[in-house]
Formats: sequence, C-alpha cells, structure tokens
Amino acid sequence: MSPAISVRGLRKQYGAFAAVDRVDLEVETGEILALLGPNGAGKTTTVEICEGYRTRDAGDVRVLGVDPATADREWREHVGVVLQTSGFTEELTVRETVAHFASLYERPREIDGLLDAVGLTEQAGVRARKLSGGQQRRLDVAIGVVGRPELLFLDEPTTGFDPEARRHFWDLIRRFREDGTTILLTTHYLEEAEALADRVAVIVRGRIVADSTPATLGGRDHASAIVRWVDHEGAHEVRTDTPTQVVAELSARLGGEASELTVSRPTLEDVYLQLIGATS
Ligand code: ATP
Repeated sequence: MSPAISVRGLRKQYGAFAAVDRVDLEVETGEILALLGPNGAGKTTTVEICEGYRTRDAGDVRVLGVDPATADREWREHVGVVLQTSGFTEELTVRETVAHFASLYERPREIDGLLDAVGLTEQAGVRARKLSGGQQRRLDVAIGVVGRPELLFLDEPTTGFDPEARRHFWDLIRRFREDGTTILLTTHYLEEAEALADRVAVIVRGRIVADSTPATLGGRDHASAIVRWVDHEGAHEVRTDTPTQVVAELSARLGGEASELTVSRPTLEDVYLQLIGATS
C-alpha cells in the first residue's frame, strides 16, 4: 500500500529564509505521526503544504496519492483539517455549526454522537463564539472529523484543554485510529505524542533531525538509567546500564531502605530537548 502522505525534498522559503528545508516525511496509512519541533521550526508550514493551503518552492508531495497543490474537491472530502487557529464569530450555535459543515459531505458523522464524543453535548445550544478556548478547540476537532476523513491533520489540537479534556481527546483520537483514520498531528505536549503517536518526527529550523517510534527516539531505548537516592551524606546520582545491580548493592550496603530511591530512564521530553539542542 502506498503511504497516505509522502513528502520528498520539500522546501518553502519566505523571502531568503528557508522555513522548510529539504524535508522528507512519510506517513503510512492507518498510522499516527506526531510532528514535533520548537516554535517556528516549520511544522505548520509543512502541514499546510500537505493540506493544500500553502504553496511550496521545491519538492514532491503526495497526499492520498495526489499533489495537494492541484487537488480537487473530491480529494478534500477525504481529508479532515484542524488548523492551529480558527475562531467562529458567527451567531450559529455549536450544533448548527457542526450541522452546517456536515451538510458539505456525502456521508457525515451523526451530529449528536459527534458532539458527545468531543464533549460538547451540554454546549450544543450555545453560540459558538461564546465557547471557552478549550471548548472552541473541541468544536474545531468536531468540524475536522464530521466528514469521516480518511486522513486527518491536527495542528496543536489540544492547546487550551484541561488535563481531563486532553485525556478524553486522546481516547477519541485512538477511536479514529481504530476506524483506520491516518493522522498527522503537531503538538508541543510530549506526553501527547507519547500517548498517541506510532511514530514521531522532530523538525528543527526546517529540517527533520529524527524520525522513529516514541520509545526509540534519540536512542532512548539504549540510554543508561539513573539511580538516585539520599543518605546522611546528601543526594546521590549514578548513571548505569545495570540499575538492578546498583540497587541491590545499595540495599546490601545500607542494610535497609534507601531514602527517596528512584530509577529513571530519559523521558521523551529529555531526548526531545537534546535533539533540538536545548540541553547538552
Ligand atoms: P509553532 O510551533 O510556533 O506553531 P511552527 O513549527 O508551526 O511553529 P511555522 O509556522 O511553520 O512554524 O513557521 C516556520 C517559520 O516560518 C517561522 O520562522 C515563521 O516566522 C516563518 N513564517 C511562517 N509563515 C510565514 C509567512 N507567511 N511569511 C513569512 N514568514 C513566515
């Protein structure tokens, strides 16, 4: 099966500045790919080129087998988009807004079920412009998926969500994946990438610097563990490939419990920060 998204040698310049510089990226059908990177790295530019909303200067882009620069309405029916910023100023209620977008598709999702899935049942009769930031974002998601897209683009979908809403949203995204939806997601929340993504790609200054599963990013799976504890001499920290042995020796030496004992491995955030050069 050909990939849902295939990007080769993508370049986008704004004047002399290359916001996206020879990016290669592939998203397999049915996969969730999280595109990570600091502010201004080129995520939205890359995603919006794939959505057909921005032009490119060089490179080959295929999305569902079609070049988005020349894609037609039929292609757009298969693609769901949640942009980074939206905002409804109209007087329509939440339900009316979703119903309006549903009417643009041949086989839309059922509206009440969708409002329930995104947690907006109670706000169904509220005017969209009166929603809180997090509720507005849920409405954006509802609109993005109302047409049952094969491929869904989510640009920072959970910005402004409270932790509970974020977890509900993750459940929803997992359900879409179970239904076979391919998803390209950008996020600044590393735990979101870890919870949802089959694969993560890290972009820095317009270039992809890493592309792998969350568990193996930046050699995370081979990284040493850190054993920390506190005793009468103060805090200790040992970096080791044999943490079980270190803890056993510690236990024997202390003849009991070590105070504040932890064994940790680098988190996705730790390796991400290293990859983007934020730490040494
Ligand atoms: P963020 O995490 O802040 O959303 P991003 O990774 O999505 O960032 P982009 O929005 O793709 O980054 O922007 C990449 C770079 O291109 C930034 O330096 C930005 O200032 C610049 N840029 C984006 N759009 C334009 C534009 N229309 N004109 C000029 N420069 C732009």
